[in-house]
Amino acid sequence: MDERIQLIEADITVLQVDAIVNAANNTLLGGGGVDGAIHRAAGPGLLDECRTLNGCATGDAKITQGYNLPAHYVIHTVGPVWHSGASGEEDLLASCYQRCFKLARDNNLRTIAFPAISTGVYGFPKKKAARIAVRETQKALSVNEELANVLFVCFNAETRRAYAEALQEKK
Ligand code: ADP
Repeated sequence: MDERIQLIEADITVLQVDAIVNAANNTLLGGGGVDGAIHRAAGPGLLDECRTLNGCATGDAKITQGYNLPAHYVIHTVGPVWHSGASGEEDLLASCYQRCFKLARDNNLRTIAFPAISTGVYGFPKKKAARIAVRETQKALSVNEELANVLFVCFNAETRRAYAEALQEKK
């Protein structure tokens, strides 16, 4: 595995990285899960900036400041809701990672932390999601030498296992 990839169990809101990624919804106006935790920790300035963005399409990403977070930026991406897998969910999730890495590159970010996008309320199977996250991250690392560290932040043991297996397969 690329030594620039790290798997950690943590609350993403406490991480001191250039950017944390938010698994947001289309409105970008806050929600539950990791989105709610990020807005609570960042304070009202984040919501004010999000209001100016006119939402975000599924599979796309937008960047804001980090406000009261230790992270400098938040990259808000909107993962797909899992239905049956036949509605383009896998491509849309891959697109989330691609758009986040594009923003990382455009903003010269060196360290970025991802939650397991779509695998909470949106119901995307954890193992499939982890494989997509690992594949897209390896692609990004191979073309972006500025990128020093990509953290996969696991909020529970099942997510950690899914990433550990996906990383093992790619060794
Ligand atoms: P989605 O709607 O994209 O499924 P969720 O927020 O429901 O988003 O879940 C995405 C992932 O984020 C899940 O694995 C969930 O356990 C995790 N998560 C929730 N809160 C946090 C947090 N504070 N830090 C890191 N990960 C979190």
